[in-house]
Amino acid sequence: MIYNYHTHTFRCSHASGTEVEYIKRAIENGIKYMGFSDHFPFICSDGHESSFRVPVCQVEDYFDTIRALREKYKAEIDIKIGFEMEYYPENFEEMLENAKKYGAEYLIMGEHFTEEELEGVRPSSAPSDSTDKLKNYVDCICEGMSTGAFTYIAHPDLINFTGDDAVYTQEIRRMCRASREYDVPLEINFLGIREGRAYPRDLFWETVGEEKAPVTFGFDAHSVRAAFDGDSLVKAKEMVKKYNLNYIGMPKLKLLGE
Ligand SMILES: [Zn+2]
Ligand SMILES: [Zn+2]
Repeated sequence: MIYNYHTHTFRCSHASGTEVEYIKRAIENGIKYMGFSDHFPFICSDGHESSFRVPVCQVEDYFDTIRALREKYKAEIDIKIGFEMEYYPENFEEMLENAKKYGAEYLIMGEHFTEEELEGVRPSSAPSDSTDKLKNYVDCICEGMSTGAFTYIAHPDLINFTGDDAVYTQEIRRMCRASREYDVPLEINFLGIREGRAYPRDLFWETVGEEKAPVTFGFDAHSVRAAFDGDSLVKAKEMVKKYNLNYIGMPKLKLLGE
């Protein structure tokens, strides 16, 4: 594995280490293409700043720091700077504009929420048997894909649907068709593998294998060690085999402003 476009920094307040440590760890393990994709800064309409993201006041420092480092290490590694961002139907245009204004070169979609995280709004990862919630999650992902703004979908199996398997697979097939149509790959998320989370979810990837949607890998590094995660790589490769996945390798970047 020579690429990883899913990397966070300490600025999101739930990651550790410094950028230079992440970069060195990646280089030492053969990564040639690296992307920083920290959580997109966002101020909700009620005025409160979302707490799991890069604070707006640190955006400049985020870009300045990584730009300086990529210059320093350019002979060894190609580094891009972007964000992991949700697709909120109501807010998308403004979010995309801000992402460009801040200087983001690419985006990956991480649909942690399907609407701005006001009080009482539950995350996608909260267990639920609501078919409406599942459909809305898939709607958002398909719509987000259709905008052409996202390079790939991070942990597409984040939605923790506890209802009927047949309903679930029908919706996942819909996501897979959009993934193929708009050529937006689905990520096997190594953070989920490392931490034994509810994702990667077997039934999801079994369906992706049947539908032949494009698949890529992402370390989702929130620590220096995870800037190269060889243990999870072994498991992800096993999944590719087991579910006969259409693994495309490095995703083709959808550069903003092109
Ligand atoms: Zn995170
Ligand atoms: Zn992430």
